[in-house]
Amino acid sequence: MDYPGNLFVVSAPSGTGKSSLVKALLELDSHLRVSVSHTTRAPRGQEQHGREYWFTSKEEFQAMVERGDFFEHAEVHGNCYGTSRKAIEERIQGGEDVVLEIDWQGALQMKQAFPYAVLIFILPPSYEELLQRLNRRGEDSPETIELRMANARIEVAQAQYFDFIVVNALFESALFDLKAIVHSQRLKYVAQRRNKSAVFRALHLV
Ligand code: GDP
Ligand code: ADP
Ligand code: 5GP
Repeated sequence: MDYPGNLFVVSAPSGTGKSSLVKALLELDSHLRVSVSHTTRAPRGQEQHGREYWFTSKEEFQAMVERGDFFEHAEVHGNCYGTSRKAIEERIQGGEDVVLEIDWQGALQMKQAFPYAVLIFILPPSYEELLQRLNRRGEDSPETIELRMANARIEVAQAQYFDFIVVNALFESALFDLKAIVHSQRLKYVAQRRNKSAVFRALHLV
């Protein structure tokens, strides 16, 4: 399938700064849209239905799985998460670049479905710093933080399957790296042939 938009898939252990980085990236780049996932976990303090997630019951989620509504879905830290077809199909077809913030299992499923998807893994500078960030965020119970720290070791081992690695030590440096990855995709031949069609025509390249 020849979709005109890029598909960026960002994964990271919980607390690395993935959501903060993607949020900052979206504020800088009006051509990017984030895909809103479905989840069975409960909303955190400020989270709104339809903004961070579509908060869904387990029964509703299972019904969506059976209907084939998801491109990918996975169980993460004991909750179900999924990317619906609706969340991205129209946007990519409309030429918009879409960012998915999903776990590594979902990222690898997306790569199977869309080989051109760009997989980006964000690493924390250390496990000590990761724990501090989870504690500082103050949104999760001690048991949840313990589970997420245990899973972080399994998650970072998947970084080898991703196209790009960004280390989020200094926030602004990590944001710069993310911007560079997005920008580089827009310079690819097929993208430039579309975006710079007048130049291509003038040079008799098309
Ligand atoms: P966070 O890790 O602190 O951002 O906590 P969340 O509860 O928001 O997300 C938990 C995990 O689920 C993270 O690894 C997310 O990337 C992942 N996740 C979120 N949405 C999806 C999705 O649609 N599909 C999959 N496979 N994973 C998702
Ligand atoms: P994730 O989406 O990966 O779970 P968040 O974006 O919620 O992570 O970030 C976790 C916490 O770490 C937040 O409190 C955030 O403000 C903080 N944070 C993010 N990036 C950095 C950084 N480079 N240095 C210090 N703290 C950070
Ligand atoms: P409705 O069309 O009734 O608003 O939504 C039907 C279902 O699709 C609901 O489960 C809703 O959460 C979901 N939905 C609607 N729009 C979107 C979207 O843009 N992205 C995602 N992921 N789900 C959507």
